Amino acid sequence: MDAREVVTRMLRDLCALVIPLECPCGQEGTLLCPSCRTLLQAGAQEVQSVCDALQIVAAARVRERSGAPPEPVGVDYRSPFPVLALGEYAGALQRLVVQWKNGGALLHTGALAQALAPVVRDIVGSEDPALYRLVPVPSRPGSRIRRGEDHMALLARALSRRTGVEVLTVRGSLSGSQAGKGARQRRRRTFRAAGAAAARDRGRDPARGPAPDHPRVILLDDVVTTGSTLRALHEGSPAGAAAVAAVVVASARWPAPVRL
Ligand SMILES: [Zn+2]
Repeated sequence: MDAREVVTRMLRDLCALVIPLECPCGQEGTLLCPSCRTLLQAGAQEVQSVCDALQIVAAARVRERSGAPPEPVGVDYRSPFPVLALGEYAGALQRLVVQWKNGGALLHTGALAQALAPVVRDIVGSEDPALYRLVPVPSRPGSRIRRGEDHMALLARALSRRTGVEVLTVRGSLSGSQAGKGARQRRRRTFRAAGAAAARDRGRDPARGPAPDHPRVILLDDVVTTGSTLRALHEGSPAGAAAVAAVVVASARWPAPVRL
């Protein structure tokens, strides 16, 4: 048992004295019951095909006809990056996310980071984690004050410790209504994010080497619905940084199983 586990256990025991322990599924006496834990360990699935805001025209399909100009027959849509989710935002997973976001269960952060770490490691593969940056979707300032702690920043830090991928923080809120507010706002956010990254990099540990000029960005969010927030972050990410993937806890929509 490492020091973090000891602290977590102590905190859990302390909490149990104050509030009765209850898993989001309702089982008493535990923060996270074995079946909810299994839910998190099922692995991630790609859900970008059901994120409407990520459907970007990739190619026009044409039908070739002899002796006549090609006839357009449709367009293909493709997400600019894959979105990987642990599960559908429903049932026990939904209750877990709601409890976690509302500050009542910040201790879930460890379990969520543990579940997402293999997903991030798979994206990085055999490459150097220093080439990548984790970019958590910023919480709205109002909700951050209400909850007292930014749950996404906590998750990003916990994931960073497990994967060696550093966190790049994007300042400012990025609510759904702002997601489509146009290029000028996105550029402003871009500069702010790039400035913040530069400021942090000045204080970098020299042993880690210089920060990459073009980090590969892994976006991180709690719940994806249409993907508009992820798309806005992708389009407004620091100059030269491209989102290579998004990792989320849950997806509001779930792709239909492929029938063979
Ligand atoms: Zn449970």
